[in-house]
Amino acid sequence: MKYDNKNIFAKILRKEIPCKKVYEDNYALAFQDINPQAKVHLLVIPKGKYISFVDFSKNASKNEINGFFKAVSKVAEEEGLVKGGYRILANHGVNAGQEVPHFHIHIFGKQKLGSMISKN
Ligand code: AMP
Repeated sequence: MKYDNKNIFAKILRKEIPCKKVYEDNYALAFQDINPQAKVHLLVIPKGKYISFVDFSKNASKNEINGFFKAVSKVAEEEGLVKGGYRILANHGVNAGQEVPHFHIHIFGKQKLGSMISKN
């Protein structure tokens, strides 16, 4: 599968469409999810063109992987989620229902998050 430059997060990275940014550095951009599933629901995306976790973990450089996951952790800390606890999640492919084909980590917090997997 080839990276689709027209996906919505690629457009956000190119600033062609807006986002509610909470954090940015050389490796990552973090912003509010447009359809929040929790009191806090953020997305962290790498700056590089990676389709999903599989692509990122196989093909990103050590610096990109390190920088990206440090950014995820920093965002959670800066948003005040560490003390109360939070959840991170990445969907890959059809079974997980991945909608946007640019790797992203969801961060959920500021409430009890319930069971890990939907019973539906
Ligand atoms: P996933 O199912 O893991 O691919 O999640 C994609 C997420 O992107 C969903 O939670 C959407 O609500 C979110 N999303 C889609 N478009 C936008 C957008 N323009 N700005 C912020 N979040 C978005």
